[in-house]
Amino acid sequence: MRELPMVLRHQDITYPRLRINDHTLDENIPAIPSESENDRYRAPPTQNLGALDALPTELLDEILSQLDLRTLTDFRHVNRRATELVDFLPQYKAITTCTECIAWSPKHRNWQMDYLHASREFGLDKDTMATLPRMTVIPGTYSPNGKKASKSVLIDYESALCAGVALHGSLCAMRKYTSDMETQKSQAYHAKVATAQQSRSTTHRIRRPRVTGPPDGRSGNPLRFVAIVRVPWLNRPSQEVEWGFYCLGCEKSSRPPLHHRRQFTTTSFDDHIRQCGTIQNGKHRSGEFRILVNHKSVKYITIDAGLYDVETMCFGPSLTASLPTLPPGLWNQAHISRDPTTGAPHFATASQASLPGISRTWHHTRIDHLELQMGRKLRSNVYEATCARFDLPIVAKFAPFLWEVPWLERETRAYDWIEGQQIGPEFLGHLTEEGRVIGFLVARVVDCRHAEPGDLSLCREALSRLHRLGILHGDVNRHNFLVSGGRTTLIDFDSAERPTGTGEMEVELA
Ligand SMILES: [Zn+2]
Repeated sequence: MRELPMVLRHQDITYPRLRINDHTLDENIPAIPSESENDRYRAPPTQNLGALDALPTELLDEILSQLDLRTLTDFRHVNRRATELVDFLPQYKAITTCTECIAWSPKHRNWQMDYLHASREFGLDKDTMATLPRMTVIPGTYSPNGKKASKSVLIDYESALCAGVALHGSLCAMRKYTSDMETQKSQAYHAKVATAQQSRSTTHRIRRPRVTGPPDGRSGNPLRFVAIVRVPWLNRPSQEVEWGFYCLGCEKSSRPPLHHRRQFTTTSFDDHIRQCGTIQNGKHRSGEFRILVNHKSVKYITIDAGLYDVETMCFGPSLTASLPTLPPGLWNQAHISRDPTTGAPHFATASQASLPGISRTWHHTRIDHLELQMGRKLRSNVYEATCARFDLPIVAKFAPFLWEVPWLERETRAYDWIEGQQIGPEFLGHLTEEGRVIGFLVARVVDCRHAEPGDLSLCREALSRLHRLGILHGDVNRHNFLVSGGRTTLIDFDSAERPTGTGEMEVELA
């Protein structure tokens, strides 16, 4: 789980489930027979997959895992052999058997609307209606208000809109047609009422025509929740299934980008924190940036939430270009807020501060960040780099945000503990920035890959060597074991500790 450490770091500022009961389809769906019951009724395949079957299963799995879900589902319907292959794919299994994560969209183009409403709203005849994607509502209690929805047919909003435009020739022609129809129905209604009143008969049996309009977007409309199921998200690079989580800093807000219904993955949460700032006491502070000015001095700038959009905030060069003119003089910390008179971003403060650094500087080598040429990003805060002092490319890990310094402090301490033990990569020196230590450099493990299930004994052996030194790794997952040339190198020691007992180590080894 490549990005998991980020989640662990943020676990006190996120929460896993929305604290509102939306009463979605998940709660109303009838129980589906378990997989084993399904299997009991599934006859073995009688047909093969033709030329595809000539490929080894591993290769077929690799090909199938590259397909999007729609294509994969279509392929699954080819025959029982295809079904069997797809059902055994771990990614497909994860998606079809998981029941977490609510997909929720405020855009009505993703909604379903009831049959009559769709035919009136877009002026569709019966034949056209018959061609549209539809779903049957499973009766039950839906929406946060717990309203009843009865069995009915819902039509896909966007398909109905497109069919309406195609049928009438243009959006304007469609709108004119539906408005004319509405006027006609309204006139017919009033004529009927007038006739009834003249003949002194009752008018309450005459039905007032329903007014058309966009679907009811209020959260109390149960039809908005009848098609919602929880679906996990597959992190393609790490091949892990993510359940999603919510931001504590947004919990009490309904103003995008700070919205209590926004659900995050580890990656999108990183962007969110960059855009809206770190969270303190349950509230977003402001975005923090480390900017190199004139190729020599580093400035730490905090920017109030919502001043720039997420693309600008996450892409260094466009942010630097969007900043107000930098203040003159000596400063390394500044704050940008909205100018109360002009409404534009401005430097509210700029000062020279003594910034925190890593104190456990046990290694004799110190290298300034300006001596490095940063290369590929390997994971959060970890980059490949080259440096004239080393023949081979190296790996640099540092704290770009001041609040991350304690994590690097712990990891630097752990490298001191394991120095010379061949457990982690070779420690090459401390990384400095204007005198203070902000990270470290280690040797790159060449031709390595992350551990796989077959490497379990190698991983246990590496972990045992760490435990024999009395050190707990604290974040054991397959991405923290690099396998190369028949041996395993442990990385990511920012959760490492020296516990007093051995119980925790037994748990970690299990
Ligand atoms: Zn937030």
